[in-house]
Amino acid sequence: WTRRPHTAMQGAFAEHQAMLQKLSAKGRRRVEVVQVRTPEELRRCDGLIIPGGESTTIALLARLSGMMEPLREFVGAKPVWGTCAGAILLAQAVSNPKRGGQELLHGVSVEITRNGWGSQVESFEAPLEVSGLRNAEVPFTGVFIRAPVIAELIEAAHDSQQQPIKVLSRISRSLLPSSLPDGGGDVSAAQTVVALRQGRHLLTTFHPELTDDDRFHEYFVQECVIPSLASRRNG
Ligand code: GLN
Repeated sequence: WTRRPHTAMQGAFAEHQAMLQKLSAKGRRRVEVVQVRTPEELRRCDGLIIPGGESTTIALLARLSGMMEPLREFVGAKPVWGTCAGAILLAQAVSNPKRGGQELLHGVSVEITRNGWGSQVESFEAPLEVSGLRNAEVPFTGVFIRAPVIAELIEAAHDSQQQPIKVLSRISRSLLPSSLPDGGGDVSAAQTVVALRQGRHLLTTFHPELTDDDRFHEYFVQECVIPSLASRRNG
């Protein structure tokens, strides 16, 4: 059994749970899902999904319930997938925090901008090419809801142990909302990255749990959680 839970503090956790249960029922991957609200629940887990929602609220609830340090330890040891607000929490740095700053888990070496497509773009969908998914030639529908934008992939100092960042998907500039200033003309290469992986962690700025396509969930279990379980057993 692979246990693979997500934080159940705030946000779209029920949808992730349903997706994992569907994956498990199909017999593709057997997954036991735990909703995580306490350090004890977190300890039972082999992987964690931090859902979309409101990153400042999730961080506040995590702080109030004594989960911030356990979450940081978890990020240092086991696979974590952050979707949307979860991606913000998983980032190294955030360039558009609310006043008073924002607590982060520093799991993935990116700088991220909250609500980065601008307030005029509440949400949009776009077909994405994603490498590494099953049937990768079939586009994955990216659902972006007040989504963050990756501002920068932070380069490793050459003496650091930092794992390389693997870009899994970029949004095509032609699919960006036309309401963006300049029609999206000044969007940088880093800002087109919408899914990436670093070591055992996965980051998507959109919401795979709001589709009926389970390939990202399968990817996380198969490519992040299971290999990490195996290496912990062998090490
Ligand atoms: N805008 C939200 C935030 O900053 C993220 C939105 C989402 O998760 N759909 O936390």
